[in-house]
Amino acid sequence: EKEELKVLKNEKSVTTDGHEVELAGNIGGFKDVEGVLTNGGEGVGLFRTEFLYMDSDHFPTEDEQFEAYKQVLEGMQGKKVVVRTLDIGGDKHLSYYEFPQEMNPFLGYRAIRLCLKETDIFKTQLRALCRASVYGRLCIMFPMIATVKEFRDAKAIFEEVKAELVAEGVAVSDSIEVGMMVEIPAAAVLADQFAKYADFFSIGTNDLIQYSMAADRMSEHVSYLYQPYNPSVLRLVANTIKGAHEHGKWVGMCGAMAGEPHAVPILLGLGLDEFSMSATQILKARKVVKSLSYEEMQGLAQECLNKDTADEVLETVKTKLGE
Ligand code: PEP
Ligand code: MG
Repeated sequence: EKEELKVLKNEKSVTTDGHEVELAGNIGGFKDVEGVLTNGGEGVGLFRTEFLYMDSDHFPTEDEQFEAYKQVLEGMQGKKVVVRTLDIGGDKHLSYYEFPQEMNPFLGYRAIRLCLKETDIFKTQLRALCRASVYGRLCIMFPMIATVKEFRDAKAIFEEVKAELVAEGVAVSDSIEVGMMVEIPAAAVLADQFAKYADFFSIGTNDLIQYSMAADRMSEHVSYLYQPYNPSVLRLVANTIKGAHEHGKWVGMCGAMAGEPHAVPILLGLGLDEFSMSATQILKARKVVKSLSYEEMQGLAQECLNKDTADEVLETVKTKLGE
């Protein structure tokens, strides 16, 4: 089967009726770039930069970060690279930074919430990213955005940093896209408003499901509620895509759902533009995409949105695929 998949490496991810999407890889650092390329990834849909911070005993300096981002952008040879700004907090801590004690860290001080308060940390990362931007095709996204104001504030800091660098005579790309993760239901519901400001969305289903179902993604006691196929989750995804497309913006997904063979047909039908997953899932997903009709998947997606339960949705997909 592996050999059979390998021939798909350099092929487009296109349906039987000519609808093209992009299949990308999730990475934690430069070490994962080769895997994305050898598995036919058309880009990086999520670069989780928190590892740069977690693998260090100090906040990584601007130069240290610049080197890391440059390496990844060059390694991807002009293909799109979506870099997520620092997503720390929740369960992810740093030995050299004291987080506040909170009852519910997953609902607390983390990610963009921290970056908008500790602007020095945020600006250092954005400066490094802007400097690296001339070495490839860079997209930057902010994690855990809940309000339009947070996005606007984060974007304003980006613009400020960029202007500072330009004033210093440093080259910065003019085509950096600035987008956001949609992983909080509030953002999914208000997607059409966010889409006026963000260049793109990337749906983080790992958190979106956790927050929609009010079920801790780490707790085995409530793991039955971790339901990617729940129609409520699908409707949030559908609303996000609709809101973005109304404003001519593209939508990716970088949560684990994007690489699930039974989710791909639904997401395709909902109009998702980019699917980002573990490198090892890419060729399998391409095979699935190439076997499907976009028009039929649009019908399937509408059917799934109107089911009552996750089990019914999954059954509907399996029946459609003849399984
Ligand atoms: C997500 O929440 O779906 C996501 C991609 O980010 P992480 O798993 O790092 O929270
Ligand atoms: Mg997340």
